[in-house]
Amino acid sequence: MPKTAVSPQTSAEWHAQAAELFPGGVNSPVRAFGAVGGTPLVLRRAEGCRVWDVEGREYFDYVSSWGAILLGHAHPAVNEAIARAAADGTSFGAPHPGEVALAEAVLERMPVLERVRFVNSGTEASQSALRLARAATGRTKILKFEGHYHGAVDALLVKAGSGVATLGLPGSAGVPEAVAAETWTLPFNDFEALENLFARSGEMLAAAILEPIAGNMGLVPPEPGFLERLRALCTQHGALMIVDEVMTGFRVARGGACERYGLQPDLVCLGKVIGGGLPVGAYGGRKEWMDLVAPLGPMYQAGTLSGNPLAMAAGRAAIDRLTPSVYERLEACGARFETGLRMIFGDRAVVQRIGSMLSVFFAAGPVRDFRAADASDKAQFAKLFHALLERGVALPPSALEAWFLNLAHDEAAIDESLTRFEAAWKAVRA
Ligand code: PLP
Repeated sequence: MPKTAVSPQTSAEWHAQAAELFPGGVNSPVRAFGAVGGTPLVLRRAEGCRVWDVEGREYFDYVSSWGAILLGHAHPAVNEAIARAAADGTSFGAPHPGEVALAEAVLERMPVLERVRFVNSGTEASQSALRLARAATGRTKILKFEGHYHGAVDALLVKAGSGVATLGLPGSAGVPEAVAAETWTLPFNDFEALENLFARSGEMLAAAILEPIAGNMGLVPPEPGFLERLRALCTQHGALMIVDEVMTGFRVARGGACERYGLQPDLVCLGKVIGGGLPVGAYGGRKEWMDLVAPLGPMYQAGTLSGNPLAMAAGRAAIDRLTPSVYERLEACGARFETGLRMIFGDRAVVQRIGSMLSVFFAAGPVRDFRAADASDKAQFAKLFHALLERGVALPPSALEAWFLNLAHDEAAIDESLTRFEAAWKAVRA
């Protein structure tokens, strides 16, 4: 039972109460403030590019629900779609037109997907894609990249990014050694290590999985040719290429990173944006592989709430608004933010950005892999983080996470945010 007799008022009071109920007071570790110190903001409301905490304080939000929100919080079209769907029932456990409507919109934008299966999270998507790759190849080994995060999947927590990296863990307790041993890891963007691994043991790999643009160790773009080389090696050695677009899908281009880089993976994982802020994931790819999924084939995967009518309606409403001009706008606003940040930090930080995803690393040069990201000055980030919070700007609470703009971050919001960054930096620069 909660210990507080009176109703909590402040974030700290709510957090204290939550800590009696949830491990660490949170329902996902990335929300904790362990890496930056202090207690998490407890939020009451969000609209556009802003969030409000339980104390009524307003913040420019650069978390955007970890990238899930692209149109802006509480977008009227999404809210209306949810309300309309809810009036007809919140869950059927049976096929319905809403899931066909979202699938058609997804497949039209990502032609590499010939078939798709909706699930409830990105974690489920990558877990299912892995199982499918193993079913398709009859092999067990998986290649992933250091600092890439694909959800809290046993085999994929090895050297994972996001909260695993933020907490400084090599993986997770509770993952059997035998499972972890099936996962091989390489540094991202290391061509030589990639060639060597495939030359040595490519025939043992069921799949290589990666974030095409790494966003879970801060924002780290692929080096030119890296994705293409991985594609070629997978084809040559009979391994499936799984591109995890949970973060990048529908965010970095109309057709995601696959469109942006002209990629033809075997399987793609989706989540975040395709649910319009509701819990959704998806995996899909070539028909040849997807026909192995039950009930057509022997690879079993299922979900009581999969294809949930509210989530499908929210996703379709969001995706319908993602016209080509939206991406031009995200690029223009992202560039404006990047330019301003570069001017503020000068040679004290590196700003890395692709479209509406970006990071500021307190590092001397470009960050190409997890080792460089992890070596950045996290203490400096923590100081900046709190100085910004005091000035009404909320960043993800870790130096090893990407920041996300949404479409409500207009020029005025960005310029005002930059003014606050300037003041915060002045206050904390060492
Ligand atoms: N894959 C990537 C690239 C992600 O960024 C995430 C979450 O941040 C996931 C998978 C897991 O998604 P979820 O948190 O919905 O399970």
